[in-house]
Amino acid sequence: MTDTTALPITPPTTPVVARTREELREARSALDDGDVAVVMTMGALHEGHATLIHQARKAHRHVVVTIFLNPLQFGPKEDLSRYPRTFDADLEICTAAGVDLVFAPTPDVVYPEGDPGVRVSAGPLGDVLEGQARPGHFDGMLTVVGKLMHLTRCSAAYFGQKDAQQLLLIRRMCRDLDFPVRVVAVPTVREPDGLAMSSRNTYLTPSDRETALCLSAALRAGADAAAEGPSAVRRAARAVLVREPLALVDYLVLVHPDTLVDVPEWYRGEALLAVAGRVGTTRLIDNLPVLVGPGGGALETFTQP
Ligand code: AMP
Repeated sequence: MTDTTALPITPPTTPVVARTREELREARSALDDGDVAVVMTMGALHEGHATLIHQARKAHRHVVVTIFLNPLQFGPKEDLSRYPRTFDADLEICTAAGVDLVFAPTPDVVYPEGDPGVRVSAGPLGDVLEGQARPGHFDGMLTVVGKLMHLTRCSAAYFGQKDAQQLLLIRRMCRDLDFPVRVVAVPTVREPDGLAMSSRNTYLTPSDRETALCLSAALRAGADAAAEGPSAVRRAARAVLVREPLALVDYLVLVHPDTLVDVPEWYRGEALLAVAGRVGTTRLIDNLPVLVGPGGGALETFTQP
């Protein structure tokens, strides 16, 4: 048997925290090569974020986490002011996950001239689904993602499949605007009962949380019907949602993963089953990539932390 008592135990070191551009420049220069992966977050970190960090950690020499609540991507009636702010706990998660550098700026650091007149346009893909419910959201999101890619000088960036439309648009931005950044997707991390982890889950009352389970249950039911074709998927998913009148469903769609257009009945192949709705005062989104057609089903297992 190995004598583990002889192994040196190095406690995890707290990441460098940069609040200003100057601090970021200095700390980023100290990371001695180009292999830097970034995980961009709005804080209130949970196991979903931690999984992104772990994946980045495994594949790259250095990991930078950004924590920034980007006012540009919140509408006037959205939850910017009540969004949970838990910096100390976030830093503990980053420390345990072996993050090198945390960039946590305030809006005046990111936008020193105030609202930027020039923004990245998401184009037509930014107007559907989440973009329809949240006008301007994706332009604001892409603008800050582009800025953070430049500021952190990252070679790779990790994003969650949880925000599938965001992920698609970031891939498109990097491709269409020649960002030299490898975009890596990480499957959605869920609670044991299937609820997709989200910082916004903290808004849910216990009964809201029960109600919210219908979203992931609908996705699972839809995926289980995937062998029978698109209308069977939609029907099975909808059947779960209608049993839960307290969930105010905004959309339930089965779309092509690259175009976000509804797949026709003859379609066979990869598709995205996506849902959004309001539970209590909270807007929640979830999705599941599915293979439609013979031998079809969910293309992502319901991953737990
Ligand atoms: P947010 O802080 O909500 O902006 O999320 C930051 C990053 O974490 C984004 O790339 C999200 O897609 C990702 N993320 C959030 N929740 C999850 C989850 N449950 N599983 C995987 N990734 C997630």
